[in-house]
Amino acid sequence: MSTSRNAATPATIETAVLGAGQSVALRPQVASLPTYVPGARPSAAKKVHKLSSNENPYPPLPSVSAALQNCLMTFNRYPDMANTEFIAELAAFLGDRVTPEQIAVGNGSVAVLSHILEAVVNPGDEVIYPWRSFEAYPIAVAIAGGVSVQVPLDDDSAINISALAAAVTDRTKVLIVCTPNNPTGSTVTHTELLELLALVPRDVLVLVDEAYVEFVRGVDSVDGLSLLADHPNVVVLRTFSKAYGLAGLRVGYAVGEPNLVAGIRAVTTPFGISSVAQQAAVVSLKAVDELFERVEILIDERTRVVAGLQEQGWSVPESQANFVWFGLGERSLEFAKLAGEAGLLVRPFAGDGVRVSIGDAAENDAFLAFTATVSAEFAS
Ligand SMILES: *Cc1c(COP(=O)(O)O)cnc(C)c1O
Repeated sequence: MSTSRNAATPATIETAVLGAGQSVALRPQVASLPTYVPGARPSAAKKVHKLSSNENPYPPLPSVSAALQNCLMTFNRYPDMANTEFIAELAAFLGDRVTPEQIAVGNGSVAVLSHILEAVVNPGDEVIYPWRSFEAYPIAVAIAGGVSVQVPLDDDSAINISALAAAVTDRTKVLIVCTPNNPTGSTVTHTELLELLALVPRDVLVLVDEAYVEFVRGVDSVDGLSLLADHPNVVVLRTFSKAYGLAGLRVGYAVGEPNLVAGIRAVTTPFGISSVAQQAAVVSLKAVDELFERVEILIDERTRVVAGLQEQGWSVPESQANFVWFGLGERSLEFAKLAGEAGLLVRPFAGDGVRVSIGDAAENDAFLAFTATVSAEFAS
């Protein structure tokens, strides 16, 4: 019997250039991955305001921290691999529209994103998404073996629905819409999303990334979950990292059609969500009233920051998320450097713009005091 070889193995793997001292070639997709740039982290030495990763600025709720004490006595055991209690609580929280079979969970929605792509993308399939958008997309697409098709945002940094639809070909497998869009904060409306769905073939998965959904207060806002009944090709991605304040514990989830969800679960890392994180998510769902009071405060702060910036002469696009976007182009790094010197960590995207998270009131005051000092130079 001869060894069988997979005919689909790309020749490039064999011919990939090896680094010095290296005998095993990386997959070419891996060798050329863009790097995820995390928001700057504070150094121990200096007191700074961290407005670089869209985290929840408030410390964990005492009720959530207290509940986690129990887990600290039992973590010699594996977590529940099926996430039974968490998924049941989540389905109940999401209401009549969602059953447990429609929910796939993972250690952060970044992981769930990868699992979704790994479940559906064949080598060379195209994955369309607006650009600039969430920087995890090009990385996850390449790892899954797909080909990224990036559709530019409009001049006002908004997602262009008709351009997205026009980019669909018979090689398209997935179309990602991030709304509100990270890092620009712009949203598509529910009506626009319905228009897009009408233009997209039913065998293309439309992934709606709602990482910031709890912060949205616009008119005709996207309601991804309401689309599922009539659109089995929609999957909604959400996270506990932002509104729920669990960024450090890593909990995210997808809601979609049960067969798709079964496939996503099948490729998910076993025991991916730790017992501590599962427990934190369950307790957070019970404390949602308290958590969403904080979200309301952050939304009020967002309104205050945007108004303050406009008074200082800045033009920032309307944001429905917990951050604001400065389209500073070539001056982005310079702005971020000056902010850093003033003790404010922000997230620049070289040549494009700067994303600044909404912090607590004192942090936002500090940020507005900084922008006042540079508005004459930067604001247009
Ligand atoms: C922050 C964010 C996420 C959440 O990532 P986690 O892995 O859940 O922390 C997902 N999508 C977008 C667009 C985000 O900005």
